[in-house]
Amino acid sequence: MLIVNANLITWEKENRILDDHAIFIENDRIKEIGKSGDLVKKYPNEEKLDARGQYVMPGNICAHTHFYGAYARGMAIPGPAPKDFPEILQKLWWPLDRSLDAESIEYSALPCLVDAIRHGTTALIDHHASPNAIDGSLDIIGGAVERSGLRAVLCYEVTDRDGEAKMKAGINENVRFIKKTKSPLLAATFGLHASLTLSDASLDLCRQAIPDGFGFHVHTAEHESDEYDSLNKSGMRVVDRLQKHGILGPNTITAHGVHFDAREMEILAETGTWLSHQARSNMNNGVGVAQIESMMRAGIKVCLGNDGFTNAMWDEWKAAYLLHKVHHRDPRRMGGYDVQQMAVYNNAALANVFFKSATIGQLSEGAFADIIFVDYHPNTPMTAGNLPWHIIFGFQQSMVTTTIVAGKVLMKDRELLTLDEKEISAKAREIAPKVWERYQKEVAKIL
Ligand SMILES: [Zn+2]
Repeated sequence: MLIVNANLITWEKENRILDDHAIFIENDRIKEIGKSGDLVKKYPNEEKLDARGQYVMPGNICAHTHFYGAYARGMAIPGPAPKDFPEILQKLWWPLDRSLDAESIEYSALPCLVDAIRHGTTALIDHHASPNAIDGSLDIIGGAVERSGLRAVLCYEVTDRDGEAKMKAGINENVRFIKKTKSPLLAATFGLHASLTLSDASLDLCRQAIPDGFGFHVHTAEHESDEYDSLNKSGMRVVDRLQKHGILGPNTITAHGVHFDAREMEILAETGTWLSHQARSNMNNGVGVAQIESMMRAGIKVCLGNDGFTNAMWDEWKAAYLLHKVHHRDPRRMGGYDVQQMAVYNNAALANVFFKSATIGQLSEGAFADIIFVDYHPNTPMTAGNLPWHIIFGFQQSMVTTTIVAGKVLMKDRELLTLDEKEISAKAREIAPKVWERYQKEVAKIL
């Protein structure tokens, strides 16, 4: 396939914007990039996809999400509003994930995948929990991902909060899926909920169970209660405790890190552990503001996720860009290049940990053909140098018209080709009231 008449944003390490270019795609890779006229002459019989002067760029990547969060949209939490993050877990997320069964797991993933294709997010790293439907849950999500044609990294969150049997079932689900996953679009990691719901014995069991070469995906210090719990249990802060149990390293993702101290940041940098930042989620939960710029300066590989918010990663760019400014009362904080470093370069490097056979997140010869078209018409000059500010102040998710993953077109001119959006949302709306009903019963047990 030949994409023609495109203005390329390459997201190479020295980013370039190349006008009137073409991309020749062979199988799942970019084979050649050149001037449109040259490649049309070179490949006259190739099937053409006309970009009609749109911007053509690598798809967005999400470093941390929860597909099952889809059911929280518009859902009422009974009783007084949760006063802090521990109450949000107890009154919202835990009764909700206990309400999931096989069918509702599938129809939590599918609407999120539709959303991701529509909004140009081509790779997602999910963190799943369904304590009453653990075995096989990752296959259900994996099946939905394969149907969609997107790329995803999956894991099951191990936790002690539902008893030892379910903690062990969570370990088995991770190990089973890690050993089984062979699809080119799927990868696996080992999920842990957070230090605050895992005993020393459980952490050790996870460490013993994980196959070589894999890492963990775990929430860390999202709220200060995680730190106090860890200090109480072990005399150590969260990151020190995870390090002691062998959880950290260059294959491990920690999410949030809002309440890290300086030594915890050093440990993440020393161990090459990834950290994912979710500004919208942190604001919504009122948990505080992570010291993201300090972490980047300390050498931590900071990425950008959405924590189950819409799979519209430019919205996450905007939230991160704005949050740190208002928090520090300083418009110089969290510049466009910082956001670009997290969302583009670090997210791509993280995705490459899981999909190693070609470069990801870049338009270059040999890279995976994960590509989106953006119908953006700047009213001021746009260059590789000022692009982050065009994305933050000008780009909208609705401007994504075409989404391609591994050389396969998933959406063309805003028409979804792999998933039936109407069918999926109708079925999801049928299932959601049943999930909400089970949720009300679950939450009634703790109120
Ligand atoms: Zn999360």
